[in-house]
Amino acid sequence: MNYHVLTLFPEMILQGLGTSIIGRAIQKGILSLEAVNIRDYAGNKHGKVDDYPYGGGAGMVMQAEPIYSAYEALCQKIGKKPRVIYLTPQGEIFSQQMARELAGEEELIFLCGHYEGVDERVLEEIVTDQISIGDYVLTGGELPAMVLMDAISRMVPGVLSNEASGVGESFQGNLLEYPQYSRPEEWRGKKVPEVLLSGHHANVEKWRREQSLLRTAARRPDLLKVAEMTEKEKMWLAAFDLSDHPQVF
Ligand code: SAM
Repeated sequence: MNYHVLTLFPEMILQGLGTSIIGRAIQKGILSLEAVNIRDYAGNKHGKVDDYPYGGGAGMVMQAEPIYSAYEALCQKIGKKPRVIYLTPQGEIFSQQMARELAGEEELIFLCGHYEGVDERVLEEIVTDQISIGDYVLTGGELPAMVLMDAISRMVPGVLSNEASGVGESFQGNLLEYPQYSRPEEWRGKKVPEVLLSGHHANVEKWRREQSLLRTAARRPDLLKVAEMTEKEKMWLAAFDLSDHPQVF
């Protein structure tokens, strides 16, 4: 997977993704990351890439031409026109399913806005996907782009080691993951659930599945409508009184 980020703050992207699991995957060559400074395509000696909005109003708008020139130069270098994701609070809310789908691409371009946003005309010209990371407004698209690249990278084969495998994690089958415990067996009077110490693989799996269903019902009941569950599980959950089991929360 090759990521290309069009941004006014390339150092933010390179520093933000250069460590831990993603940083190692870049070093191993499983991922590549390039941050293109839009200012390099300003076309004026002051490096100015924004201007006042037509019609008035607060703030500045990123101009179309520097972004378009940066995009064109990038596509020429890559030799193709990859999908271009514009990070915007007006886009479709990002999900694990979208991360999985995007991980199938070979190249991805991310366009990070700043200030009041980007001239609409260049968005119409080059953007294929508009994605938001949630219903709140950030100062720029750099953090959202990093959020997407992190989540997408975890779906790229070879990025996660065996121990850190993404299998069984939250949102697989639209369910949240079961609770996790590590050593010691008892911490500040709190014991690890007996079943996890039993060594009985089938019982552990059954307990985890039940916890996953209960936790989703308690924390994200909206997900249950689309969760992958058997009829038996649906009936079991419907008969369960969550108010009798506050520990699920
Ligand atoms: N005026 C714009 C609006 O109301 O839709 C918001 C502009 S915001 C201050 C500046 C940039 O931050 C946007 O162009 C976008 O790239 C990024 N951004 C802000 N919030 C975001 C979010 N929730 N998801 C994705 N990108 C976001």
